[in-house]
Amino acid sequence: MEKENWFNQEISEVEKNLETNLKTGLTTEQVEQKREKYGLNELKQQKKKNIFQKFLAQFKDFSIIILIIAAIISGIVGIAEGEGITDTIVIMIVVIVNAIIGVAQESKAEKSLEALQKLSSHAAKVIRNGKTEVIPARELVPGDIAIIETGDYISADLRIVEAINLKSQESSLTGESVPVEKMSGVIDKKEIGIGDRTNMLFSSSLITYGRGTAIVTETGMETEVGRIAEMLSNTEEQETPLQKKLNKLGKTLGIAAIAICIFIFILGLFQGKEPIHMFMTAVSLAVAAIPEGLVAVSTIVLAIGVQKMVKRNAIVKKLPAVETLGSATVICSDKTGTLTQNKMTVKKAFWNGRLEDIESAEMDNELQQLIYNAILCNDTKVLEDGSLAGDPTETALTQMAFNFKLDSSIYGDMPRIAEVPFDSERKLMTTVHKISDNLYRVYTKGGVDELLKRCKGYSLNGNYRNDLERYKKEIYEKNEEMARNALRVLAFGYKELDHRPEKEELETIEKDLIFLGMVGMIDPPRQEAKRAVEKCKTAGIKTVMITGDHKITAIAIAKQLGILENEDEAITGSELEQISDEELTKNVRKYSVYARVSPEHKVRIVKAWQANGEIVAMTGDGVNDSPALKTANIGCAMGIVGTEVAKEAADVILTDDNFATVVSAVEEGRRIYDNILKVIQFLISCNIGEVIVLFLATLLTPLFAKWFGIINVAAIEVLLPIHILWINLVTDSLPALALAFDPANSDIMTRKPLKPSTRSIYKRHDI
Ligand code: ATP
Repeated sequence: MEKENWFNQEISEVEKNLETNLKTGLTTEQVEQKREKYGLNELKQQKKKNIFQKFLAQFKDFSIIILIIAAIISGIVGIAEGEGITDTIVIMIVVIVNAIIGVAQESKAEKSLEALQKLSSHAAKVIRNGKTEVIPARELVPGDIAIIETGDYISADLRIVEAINLKSQESSLTGESVPVEKMSGVIDKKEIGIGDRTNMLFSSSLITYGRGTAIVTETGMETEVGRIAEMLSNTEEQETPLQKKLNKLGKTLGIAAIAICIFIFILGLFQGKEPIHMFMTAVSLAVAAIPEGLVAVSTIVLAIGVQKMVKRNAIVKKLPAVETLGSATVICSDKTGTLTQNKMTVKKAFWNGRLEDIESAEMDNELQQLIYNAILCNDTKVLEDGSLAGDPTETALTQMAFNFKLDSSIYGDMPRIAEVPFDSERKLMTTVHKISDNLYRVYTKGGVDELLKRCKGYSLNGNYRNDLERYKKEIYEKNEEMARNALRVLAFGYKELDHRPEKEELETIEKDLIFLGMVGMIDPPRQEAKRAVEKCKTAGIKTVMITGDHKITAIAIAKQLGILENEDEAITGSELEQISDEELTKNVRKYSVYARVSPEHKVRIVKAWQANGEIVAMTGDGVNDSPALKTANIGCAMGIVGTEVAKEAADVILTDDNFATVVSAVEEGRRIYDNILKVIQFLISCNIGEVIVLFLATLLTPLFAKWFGIINVAAIEVLLPIHILWINLVTDSLPALALAFDPANSDIMTRKPLKPSTRSIYKRHDI
């Protein structure tokens, strides 16, 4: 079937061709029909091994190969000597039972990892049956109407219907890392490259700016990325550093076993024993020395551990992260929402030189403007039942406006005609509203310093004043007073225009503003975060708070949480810019709070800690947080407020956005690591015991024979391979599995973390 050129079509054509409706989206019935026709929105997976292939794979193991050789030789010898093949049968039964246990463990581990992958897969916001819904991206079908926001990961190909400052990063398709500006108009040209189809969004790209709506045109293997999917390397199975070490250990033990075998074999020959007899003894030794199941048991411990972590609200996307979590020494956490509740309520307002409780504030011209600004320069959605949905900072502002008897009609009275979205770099947001054909009002809100820098004067009791420098002293004083009480402060400004601003003008619109006032909102610390910080202290883990908020607010909250004692432990983003990377590395231990930082600073902070040999966990939610999440040893993305981009970059997703969850994941990581070490110690000590018994027995038989007066030393049988195998099966593999479920030691969070350099797989913390 010839593929449609969606970029050549008018929106109405696309809508018709895909039998959808821009306003109400698809109906449930249509979705079902389309799913039947197009299937799930997935790329074809690599073929999975079937159970028989899995079973066969077990026989690739070194120790199993040795056993099979032993079985064949004992069979040949048995038949030659007329003793039958009982030994061969027993060895083969043991080998098969071992393989079955191996397959069962592998399947269980695979299942829990698949379940995890589903949990951490992308989501998409669509309109269906006239309502907005968030669905797993794999359920998208052609014709779905998607709502696109900054930070979204695009999971299908889409034709853009509406684009507001929309920019998309398509490097995985085009190799171009600079985000492309998107628009909704028709493109006339027929043959153009993906990079030039600016009215389309493509699966696997990231929305770095703006918002919009779009119609899903292609899904699954039909998307542009699907077409090249065959070329893309599929995600390889990852081995964790510990599993790598275990494989190495297994090989070393194997070589040591062979060396001992050869030694014993030669020794036996000197003692005058028959070569075939000595061969069997040597095989018994090899079987005794090789810890079968070492890697398999550790995989199952990891898999069970990650399942447990899901119950504690942490989805681990990559297995190695479990081990790294257990060795974390520093946790860098965002403030808003992670250490605090993100339940904001406006408490105070400053305008006309007065700082007052918002509840008892009396309305006047400036407060009126401030409230218009607060509700209009705001992306909160008022739902049908009257509840508010959106960013908590903004819903708090909308609630404040509603408390002043303003209602939703304001949105229609002063419609938004343009905007510059909020970003944590500028710490500002601006919207433009139409009052009449030749009167437009620009509303800006954001950080106090950032806004004041863009003001030329202020409004006082209905009059414009230009002596802003003088007024600033008062503003800063009141800002500080609110911040000291842990209030998050936002400032407001406006200006009027006699024309609708063009696109170019928007880029520089945040200037010559008139300062209106400020509000202070509380965002109480999470009680569980306070306990978690305490836990970190006893566990030797440093907690660092990183926030875009004001320094004084950050200090006040950090004190309440026990993160900081002295104010000189706090530093701002601009102070950070003054110091070099070397200086930061030298002094990084001094700072517990970073305030007013932008996401770029986070990378420097992580690197400085890492340069000191620390293992850093870092939380993040925005698009710009992804470099820091990737740089950190463990990137933790927020599951609720986090963007899809942050989730993509992270190793762990916190489903409750809570700092305490990071700490319990660390605790669980430590438990898992401990249990793997317990298994290793157990298996190796069992094997060493067996080797010693066999070794000494062979060495000492002539001596004992002499004592007991036995003349024919060569006839004395030491333990046979089947004996050792039986002991291994009953006393090694099964009890080792039980250790996987061992509860945490009581000192799990009171002992210091071990540095990875000093971590050895033979040494547990408590021994
Ligand atoms: P965190 O502690 O997680 O970094 P934060 O909210 O303090 O969160 P940002 O979200 O980057 O950090 O916000 C930084 C600053 O930008 C805030 O202190 C505030 O001054 C301003 N700000 C936050 N949200 C908005 C918004 N919706 N509109 C305008 N300004 C905002």
